[in-house]
Amino acid sequence: MRFLGEDFAVFAKVRFLMSSHLKALNRLKEVQKVIASCRSCDQMVGPPVHGAAILSPILLLGQAPGPHEAALGRPFAYTAGKTLFRWFQESLGISEAEFRERVYMAAVARCFPGKASGGGDRVPHSAEILNCSQHLKRELQILKPHLILAVGKLAISQVLGPEVYGSTALLTDVVGTQLQAKFYGQVVDVVCLPHPSGLSAWPKVEPGKTLLQRALKLIGEHPAWHAGLSG
Ligand code: SF4
Repeated sequence: MRFLGEDFAVFAKVRFLMSSHLKALNRLKEVQKVIASCRSCDQMVGPPVHGAAILSPILLLGQAPGPHEAALGRPFAYTAGKTLFRWFQESLGISEAEFRERVYMAAVARCFPGKASGGGDRVPHSAEILNCSQHLKRELQILKPHLILAVGKLAISQVLGPEVYGSTALLTDVVGTQLQAKFYGQVVDVVCLPHPSGLSAWPKVEPGKTLLQRALKLIGEHPAWHAGLSG
């Protein structure tokens, strides 16, 4: 038999959780407004791009948007995104729309950096990464993610740090293994993925092919993946 006092305690707890959720969501939206208006980096083409404001236990960290993402208004909206979402669809059975609704999508730099002289997109330089880290730090403080999906070498090196993923490290050292890192004060599990750019052959040939499948399996087995899909 349930007592009135017990009902009230449950009601108060639910109300507290709903109010905390709403506050966190509003704080996240504020951070995204700041990102959208940021023009701190002179050499960035911009404008900044961000994903949907969702309170997810999983954060996907890419490198930087390409030339089409700003016009399309979301990260990984063009060819690399097609490959990335195909991986998730084929291995995890989740559509692009479902993924975007369930996983918070961030990047090391939020603006398109322009083209590199040798072709391909310019890699953001250290001052730009530092500038943009102010946004990422705030997002991490709000979200407190349990799992980070680090996509591509720059994102991997930022999350794991130079001791684990230094300049001579290889994707084969980290893709296909679940790792842990302290990232801007948050202890997180990390699953690394290769960049889905069409310019990279790594995920298409061995051992990359097998390691990619292992990494996707690790995501599907992680408790945060199931928590992220149950909300
Ligand atoms: S890269 Fe980041 S810090 Fe630099 S202008 Fe864009 S949003 Fe601002």
